[in-house]
Amino acid sequence: MRPISAEAAGKVVAPFDAAVPAPAAADQPGAVKAVAGQLGTFQPGSLDVLVGQAAAVRALRAAIRRPVHAYLFVGPPGSGKRLAAQCFAAMLLCPGGGEDGCATCRRVMAGAHPDVFVLEREGAAMTIDQAREVTRTAARTSVEGGPCVVVLPELHLARDAVPALLKTVEEPAGQTVFLALADFVPPELVTVASRCQLVTFRSLGDAEVADALRAEGVGVEVAEAAARAAGGRLDRARLLARDPSVAQRWEAWQSVPGRLDGSGATVAVLVDELLGLLKASAAPLLARQAAELEELAEASARDMPKVPGRMAQAVAKAGARELDERHKREQRRQRTDELRAGLAALAAAYRDRAGSGSMAPEHAARAVALVDGFSADLAYNPGEQLALQALLLRLEHLSG
Ligand SMILES: [Zn+2]
Repeated sequence: MRPISAEAAGKVVAPFDAAVPAPAAADQPGAVKAVAGQLGTFQPGSLDVLVGQAAAVRALRAAIRRPVHAYLFVGPPGSGKRLAAQCFAAMLLCPGGGEDGCATCRRVMAGAHPDVFVLEREGAAMTIDQAREVTRTAARTSVEGGPCVVVLPELHLARDAVPALLKTVEEPAGQTVFLALADFVPPELVTVASRCQLVTFRSLGDAEVADALRAEGVGVEVAEAAARAAGGRLDRARLLARDPSVAQRWEAWQSVPGRLDGSGATVAVLVDELLGLLKASAAPLLARQAAELEELAEASARDMPKVPGRMAQAVAKAGARELDERHKREQRRQRTDELRAGLAALAAAYRDRAGSGSMAPEHAARAVALVDGFSADLAYNPGEQLALQALLLRLEHLSG
């Protein structure tokens, strides 16, 4: 499967950073650089970069002395699991035991080590095909002689793919080490979890998030507002603090409960507005992809004279097709991630209403459950517009 080989080549590992589940920026390599840039005071690969995760850091430093074949990092989104996995992968591969900023550590942190694989889901959830790809990837021989590290982000979204994953995680080939990440452990994941060494990440308080942003050079007011809106997610807070359009989208979703007025026409307007913002949120990703297409075209024009005509055309065609497929996958993922972020904002708005007493707690709880259920079932919602309208109509019924 191409996504993996492309990622293995270090091209698509962009989301392997702290800013991850965050929509638009999840697919921008720029986001990785921005975060990496903030890590300047630490050695590349040092766990010191994790904010507020002293217990997890201690556990990982203890674990590296006697590594096992599978780890499960569990903690709320934005708690630093991906960054931790990246550092731990560097520690597993580093000749000096890690956290020393050597060339190996730097390559892993840059997403450019051939023995580190990040298996990103393609759509809203991991598919069985992707689970089989995990098996194939895990069976690969190490390029540089050390272990192969396979990172499985968002394993709580593996769902139907879990049975296919189980055997691989139980009996990995050779020296493969799995680093599975999950926001929580759903029932279908309990057996896999029992085969892994568990490392727990805690949720961060608003003050911790704000402090971290301020340490990265964000002004006090912006840092505090972003921390509040991000609900303990440092990755989201970083985005909110830096990209005004993210905050605008967050606010649009948060405004929904207050704007529902009992009319179907309002619901239609709201849904069109939200879907318009959703579409616009892909702009940075599309711009990056257009630049990549241009680069590919330039590269083939440059290399063309070295290869006989017909073969050059075939090579160029295959390259373009692979790029196109990866772009479509990235677009699908960006869209589901962005929609999930919006739904999270909507659920948060209902929680706030219960908190402030403007909505009966049991109604708010049902609203949150409806929104969360919708978010969890995104994979099964092909008719986005109608499904969203139906959701808002049900929510309206609850508020009224
Ligand atoms: Zn090193």
